[in-house]
Amino acid sequence: MIKNRFDDNNSAMKLYLNNLYRITAVLSLVTVLMLCVSSSVKAQYFGQNKVRYKNLQFKVYETPHFNLYYYTKNDSLIKAFAKESEAWYSMHQQVFRDTFRRKNPIILYGNAPEFQQTTVIDGEIGVGTGGVTEGLKNRVIMPLQEINAQTRHVLGHELVHAFQYHSLIEGDSTQLENIGNLPLWMIEGMAEYLSLGKVDANTAMWMRDAVLNKDIPTLKDLTTNSKYFPYRYGQAFWSFIGSTRELSCPKYLKR
Ligand SMILES: [Zn+2]
Repeated sequence: MIKNRFDDNNSAMKLYLNNLYRITAVLSLVTVLMLCVSSSVKAQYFGQNKVRYKNLQFKVYETPHFNLYYYTKNDSLIKAFAKESEAWYSMHQQVFRDTFRRKNPIILYGNAPEFQQTTVIDGEIGVGTGGVTEGLKNRVIMPLQEINAQTRHVLGHELVHAFQYHSLIEGDSTQLENIGNLPLWMIEGMAEYLSLGKVDANTAMWMRDAVLNKDIPTLKDLTTNSKYFPYRYGQAFWSFIGSTRELSCPKYLKR
């Protein structure tokens, strides 16, 4: 899953954001946990199904590693998206050293409101959610973003999750449930690192703020205290590892 946050120097806003941030972090954790049990638990009850305002006519565009479900009537855009998907696949494959034997589904919505109406997954999708990757079927569900760079980032981020899930499901001594043992900073930080790269202005800003306020968390703090947004601190952690262990940092991340 990918989530966005905003910053403000105003203290009331900061307090509000802190609360929002805690809620977001908890919700993220709940969502990840939900992914683990989504086959047995249904969150919706009679009369509370998500409302779909349009009947979208999906088609399938096949690439070597993906089945891309789309309805957007813009062929060149879909072709460009499919090309991006394959580019991310080959980059993530270098890191995970894993291969998808079956084509991974990507369900692409034309915009955020239509994405929020998806019935592919249970539960409400908030406005701050840029994309979701489903655990059991490994389906990536996301909308086209406002700008191409955002679409590319969300796609890269969610495909990291697809590889993470795949390596757990296909591993000879792991199961999907094992993702519950991994802290969010590890999962989401890795997805941010492998989609944004080593140098990211937003994360650098967060880290400068942490240094100025003498509030740099330990890994234990990151794991146990929801005060620390796992996406940014997790990305900083993986960037550090990538910098100190050259072999773990693919060339395309050193920009
Ligand atoms: Zn994510």
